[in-house]
Amino acid sequence: MLKEKIAIVTGGSRGIGAAICKKFADNGANVAFLYAGNTQKAEETKKELLEKGVKAEAYQCNVADAEQVAEVCKQIIADFGGVDILVNNAGITKDKLVPTMKIPDFDSVVDTNLKGAFYMIKQIYPVFMKQRSGKIVNMSSVSGLMGNFGQTNYSASKAGLIGLTKSVAKELASRGVCCNAIAPGFVTTDMTKNLSENNQLKDQIPMKRFGTPEDIANLALFLASDQSDYITGEVIRIDGGLCM
Ligand code: NAP
Repeated sequence: MLKEKIAIVTGGSRGIGAAICKKFADNGANVAFLYAGNTQKAEETKKELLEKGVKAEAYQCNVADAEQVAEVCKQIIADFGGVDILVNNAGITKDKLVPTMKIPDFDSVVDTNLKGAFYMIKQIYPVFMKQRSGKIVNMSSVSGLMGNFGQTNYSASKAGLIGLTKSVAKELASRGVCCNAIAPGFVTTDMTKNLSENNQLKDQIPMKRFGTPEDIANLALFLASDQSDYITGEVIRIDGGLCM
C-alpha cells in the first residue's frame, strides 16, 4: 500500500509509534522515526524495520525544540531523498488535578504534544505544497474530544491538535495534501501501563478491552495511503466504542 513512500513518524521507537513504523514498513514504506532519549529501544525498533527490507533510520530529536526539529527534518530529507507521509505521534502525559499541576508541567505537555506537531508540519508543509501531494496524520486522543479528569494539560494539547489538523487541512486541500487526526481511547502501551489491569475501566469500554498499538497502526496506514485520498480535516475515534 505504501511501496517506496517515505514516512516520518515522531515517537516511533515505542508503543503506538513503533507499531505504525512496522505497519508502514510491512507495506513497503521507507521509515525515518524520531525519539526522545531511549536510544536502546530506538535501535531495537530500527533493527526490526531493517529486517523487513526497507530503509529505516532513527533520529534523536526533541519535537518540543523548534531548532532541533528544523535540523532533523533537513537531515531526513537529505538522507531519504524526500518525504511523502508525516505522522505526528510523539506525546507525553503529566497528569495532576489543576491545583497541584505545576505550570512547567502544563507547558511541557503542550510544547511536546501540540507545538511539536506544529514545528514538524512547518518544516514539511513547503515540501508537500511543492510536490502537490502528502499525508499528515496527527495523534490526538479521546481526551481531546471529551476532556479527562486530571488531564487539563493533555486534553488541551489534544484538542488543540484537532484545530491544528482542520486548519492545515483547509490550507493544503487544494494542493492534494490530506491532514487528518486519530483519536484513540485506551491503548496498551508504556503510557497506560498503570491502567491496563483496571477492570473497572475496561468495563466502561463497550468492547471490554483496551486497544492494541496495531489497532491504531491499521488506521494510520489507511490515512497514509491513497485509499483515503478524499478524506481531509477528519478526526477518527478509535476507542472500542468508549466515547459513543
Ligand atoms: P509511549 O509508549 O509513551 O511512547 C512515546 C513515544 O514518544 C516514544 O517513542 C518517545 O521516545 C517519544 N517521545 C516522547 N516525548 C518526545 C519528544 N519530546 N520528542 C520526540 N519524541 C518524544 O506513548 P504511546 O502510548 O505509544 O502514545 C503515542 C501517542 O498516542 C501519544 O501522542 C499519545 O498521547 C497518543 N495516545 C495514546 C493513548 C494510549 O492509551 N496509549 C491514547 C490516546 C492517545 P523515547 O522512547 O525516546 O522516550
